[in-house]
Amino acid sequence: MNNVLAVDIGGTHFRTGLFDEQGRRLLILEGDTDRQAGREWMLEQLGRRCRDLIAQTDAPVKACGLSFGGPVDYMRQSVTSVHSAGWEGFELGKWMEQSLGIPCALDNDANAGALGEYRFGAGRGAKSMVYITISTGIGSGLVYEGKLIRGKDCVAGEIGHIPVSDSGARCSCGGRGCLESFSSGGAIEMRAREWAQRRPEHVARLIELSGGGEITAKGLMLAAAEGDMVATHILRETTRWLARGLLMVIRILNPDIIVLGGGVAQSGALLLDTIHGFLEELASPTIHYSTEIATAALGNYSPLYGAAAMAMTMDKPT
Ligand SMILES: [Zn+2]
Repeated sequence: MNNVLAVDIGGTHFRTGLFDEQGRRLLILEGDTDRQAGREWMLEQLGRRCRDLIAQTDAPVKACGLSFGGPVDYMRQSVTSVHSAGWEGFELGKWMEQSLGIPCALDNDANAGALGEYRFGAGRGAKSMVYITISTGIGSGLVYEGKLIRGKDCVAGEIGHIPVSDSGARCSCGGRGCLESFSSGGAIEMRAREWAQRRPEHVARLIELSGGGEITAKGLMLAAAEGDMVATHILRETTRWLARGLLMVIRILNPDIIVLGGGVAQSGALLLDTIHGFLEELASPTIHYSTEIATAALGNYSPLYGAAAMAMTMDKPT
């Protein structure tokens, strides 16, 4: 039996994994991303770990899938991230092929996460699935009958950048009024900071659950789970916008399932219950739908499993 390699490069962590052809993970090596150390450092770390993984197996390793936590030019198999120094325009797919001597396929982490959940996670058995990852930003991947829908310019499924309002903060994409600037982990943290400035006496628990420093989305979700009033207020405010976005997705695509991943979705039942409450309020009483909404089954590992799925099919532009 052949094995495959999977690589997930994230802003805070990176992961390399060895999988068999059934998608069972055999070995995983992970580490913290050192943003200051730059591209060469990261490539050295990845190359070394991948070669270690190949050395651990007697079975042939036939291919490698790569998930990158930032914008990717899929057609060129290169990174287009302007936020991380040294990566812009870098042909990561080709570099990895030359380094490892096996075929490699590259995609962004939202598409990789979507494939991971579709093949091995919450989307198993579905015909159509929309994966939405909510962390600092909002990313998304659309899968239909096992294939990613990319669109004419490979920008289909940018759900985080659907304009939902004429107002709001400037978005990371340069636009204004995007769903991401209302519902992402970054938006939650911005609202919490505004509360901390205006009413510091009301955010003590949020700060405590965030580890004592700046309020984090994770700390806020923990406080909301305890019933903290400010945390609950911010969660409801941001989730109402998210529910609008989800309803748009349901109206346009009516998929079998929408899978929510990323740090914010790890609050699980609390987020799902809040979403369902708003969907009931916003939905039309005459247009019925049965789209399921679930949280990711693979947690932080959705993109790594997706990278393994990419390696298995080697579906990439030639
Ligand atoms: Zn945007």
